[in-house]
Amino acid sequence: GLPESPPPVLSERRKTRQLQVGPVGVGSDHPISVQSMTTTVTADVNATLQQIAELTAAGCDIVRVACPSADDAEALPAIARKSQIPVIADIHFQPKYVFAAIEAGCAAVRVNPGNIKKFDDRVGEIAQAAKDHGTPIRIGVNAGSLDKRLMEKYGKATPEALAESALWEASLFAEHDFHDLKISVKHNDPVVMIRAYEILAEQCDYPLHLGVTEAGPAFQGTIKSAVAFGALLRQGIGDTIRVSLSAPPVEEVKVGAQILQSLNLRPKKLEIVSCPSCGRAQVDVYRLADEVTAGLQGMEVPLRVAVMGCVVNGPGEAKEADLGVASGNGKGQIFVKGEVIKTVPEHQIVETLIEEAMRIAEEMGET
Ligand code: SF4
Repeated sequence: GLPESPPPVLSERRKTRQLQVGPVGVGSDHPISVQSMTTTVTADVNATLQQIAELTAAGCDIVRVACPSADDAEALPAIARKSQIPVIADIHFQPKYVFAAIEAGCAAVRVNPGNIKKFDDRVGEIAQAAKDHGTPIRIGVNAGSLDKRLMEKYGKATPEALAESALWEASLFAEHDFHDLKISVKHNDPVVMIRAYEILAEQCDYPLHLGVTEAGPAFQGTIKSAVAFGALLRQGIGDTIRVSLSAPPVEEVKVGAQILQSLNLRPKKLEIVSCPSCGRAQVDVYRLADEVTAGLQGMEVPLRVAVMGCVVNGPGEAKEADLGVASGNGKGQIFVKGEVIKTVPEHQIVETLIEEAMRIAEEMGET
């Protein structure tokens, strides 16, 4: 077919420095990446690698592993070597693990200076080790780990306090001529978080790692993250994202990927355009949408599939879809690009859609 022009985006990316987290570029020259964090005990190498494989399959670009103990630090070389995606070691409190992670070949290290005692004294050493290995570092604060000095100055974790804290940390590294940094300023309140990133975006050109921290269980956390990231991405702010949910990390990755896809910041894969159902519906739209979603999961070609509850508006409403169904009278009208191609009994709707999806995928030159 004709080459398609890229789908429109809402704004140009804020211009940033570029850095490499292993093979994944982070910064305005690169696509926005999706991160998550493993929940396994890092020292359990097999379990951790298994979870990383699941995250990779779900669309994760970069994975972070916690490193709270010497056993975890010892596991880092094997994990870094065998993971399909770059691994970032997440270090709190203990500078010695920062060095261990860099030596282990981790693609980057996340340090929380607010949590590393006497951090000031060690920045030079950390910067030198990171420079020697070409390892970028993520710095920045969570509301919970704001520096005491700033807590006293601002009274609480305000956007200004978060931004000032992060910029102060960056300046410590800059003094040692180290700029391979990305920054996060996380807060559980999207309003504070959005404002903090806006201030940061104005005042530096480091790539930014977006996150709403402690966002909550899946439903609340998904919405908080989507709203907060949307407000920032709309301004071109954000180079890598992590959705934090009190839910399995695969869910975080799916939400992160979906947020980027929704704004055309990541190529769309399967998209289900399903109607909300109404009094005209002659089929259980919710169930049908779920079954079609499950049946087409894992399709590698971008496909828009419409699932409509009735024939009144079905084909018309879904002209933009590649494929769809409008149900009525125990039957489903299957349509391709808005044209009805056949009518099948209700129980054959899902299998027919899958068949047609495969045919379209083949026509697109991929399977
Ligand atoms: Fe209602 Fe039909 Fe529209 Fe679904 S497609 S919302 S059932 S009118």
